[in-house]
Amino acid sequence: MAHEGITQKKLEAIKKDLEARKFELEQEMTGLYQEKFSDDQVQDSADEALTSTMESLKASLHDTKNIEYKRVLQALGMINAGSYGVCVDCSKPISDKRLKHYPNATRCLVCQETFEEHGPEV
Ligand SMILES: [Zn+2]
Repeated sequence: MAHEGITQKKLEAIKKDLEARKFELEQEMTGLYQEKFSDDQVQDSADEALTSTMESLKASLHDTKNIEYKRVLQALGMINAGSYGVCVDCSKPISDKRLKHYPNATRCLVCQETFEEHGPEV
């Protein structure tokens, strides 16, 4: 499946942005986290450990940073898997505008609307 509409160059730029944002959020959240748990460090390389750290963070940090961070992680995962920016339902490219707001979007707007009409929002 070709990435119509998304060039490799563009993808690299997006990935860079997401990684920068991920780092920023980590810094912010680690700061918050360390106020309570001073000896716990968030490791950059260990995404799995990070995920479980995020689970504990979730309990105390129900805020937009947390949600955004998960989106960024998901988006990075999709870039690595080569499925970023492509709708899972119709296989068409997802619009740039939509990806800017929802970097982890897995459906184009049309399919998302259909999905929301027929099932609960995830
Ligand atoms: Zn679609």
